Amino acid sequence: MRAAIVVIGGGIQGLSVAYNLAALGERDVIVLDAGYFQGGASGRNGTLIRGGFMSNEWTGLFALANQRWIELSRRLGRNVMFSARGYLLLAEKPATAANFDAALATHRAHSVRSHRATQADLAKLAPALDRSRVLDAIYFRDGGVAPHHAAMDAYHRACTAAGVRIRYGSPVTQILTRGARVVGVVGDGDGDGDGFEIEADAVVLAAGAYGNAVAKLAGVELPGFPMRIEAMVLEPTRAVVRPAIAFIDSLCYMAQTARGEIVGGAEVPEQPTESLACDLPVMTATARVYRDMLPCLAKLRILRHWAGMLHATPDFGPLIGAHPSFANLWVTGGWSYGFACAPAAGELLAKAILKGVLDPRIVPFALDRFAQNRPVREGGIVLAARV
Ligand SMILES: Cc1cc2nc3c(=O)[nH]c(=O)nc-3n(C[C@H](O)[C@H](O)[C@H](O)COP(=O)(O)OP(=O)(O)OC[C@H]3O[C@@H](n4cnc5c(N)ncnc54)[C@H](O)[C@@H]3O)c2cc1C
Repeated sequence: MRAAIVVIGGGIQGLSVAYNLAALGERDVIVLDAGYFQGGASGRNGTLIRGGFMSNEWTGLFALANQRWIELSRRLGRNVMFSARGYLLLAEKPATAANFDAALATHRAHSVRSHRATQADLAKLAPALDRSRVLDAIYFRDGGVAPHHAAMDAYHRACTAAGVRIRYGSPVTQILTRGARVVGVVGDGDGDGDGFEIEADAVVLAAGAYGNAVAKLAGVELPGFPMRIEAMVLEPTRAVVRPAIAFIDSLCYMAQTARGEIVGGAEVPEQPTESLACDLPVMTATARVYRDMLPCLAKLRILRHWAGMLHATPDFGPLIGAHPSFANLWVTGGWSYGFACAPAAGELLAKAILKGVLDPRIVPFALDRFAQNRPVREGGIVLAARV
């Protein structure tokens, strides 16, 4: 078998790059996924989306992503159910609040519609919030949430309609190389036990938490390690918060769904692991933040609790671009906010692959930045350092 481009991984990153390749005219694309539709982090996330962070690099990329979410249903021809209910970034510590003026200036430079939320704004946006604990707040008007099932379904259908072939239950077990190029992949199954070998002009590695394991199939490595993160849902309650919220200092995020449930989680330092088992520390940490910041949630029961896997890089930033060892092995990985950023990452990576144009917004996230001692410092993410 042959394809111009093989994409390894059918999560939202793999589907977005495949869709964008097809939209740019390259329809000879195969997406191969080891598991089942939505089985990776793309079917297990908090669904929060925002365009602004603290750094210029993250904001540049996510500003484009947030813009794309606004028009994504029209573009894909399916309803991704994006709800622009807004997004609040909260500082509880003076050191965090001290960076908010600079962050707002960065947002302005990238045309992200953000402003400082006053105590009166907070009372309207999030009546349940204990405002006495909030030192400063930034509100993103265009942030919000999109249920992952709707977004994944829309990407899947748009890919299929454009002629992209997508196979789940098809793990790639080898990446074939010749000199400084990759030339194809070998894999197992399709559920029927038959293996496959596909020649390709280029391969895109979009394997989420398994990015490094898949890179090793070509004899190379990606910086970072697999990391578990967890989320939980509380019983439905009356409308207590409208926007999504990130409590930067408590390493916690949350949103209220249309059904009234509270979805979110607090991060605790984890050992590298590949387990999807949930445990008490995250539940306890999340419950503590809710109790302190949104006391009315303390009485609600936990309905569901689950884990998903990410590939955490040393700066928690994504890896986007060609692998330094193979000019035609492209990577979109290392994602911690890869649901929100998928529309932008897929678009810019597809342009890089087909047109050889590296958009300045992806350049800072090059795979060799750690070797070059150029990590991207971002202070507005909710992730705990490894134990
Ligand atoms: C609890 C939780 C909450 C989160 N909250 C948010 C949030 O609110 N906002 C946000 O933006 N992000 C959030 N994220 C992160 C987000 O979900 C991920 O960054 C994003 O889904 C990554 O997409 P992906 O396509 O790279 O990975 P995945 O969706 O994990 O897809 C990778 C795919 O690669 C496949 N694969 C692996 N190995 C192979 C192989 N050998 N051959 C073929 N296929 C292979 C896997 O089967 C998998 O389907 C959260 C994640 C979790 C777990």
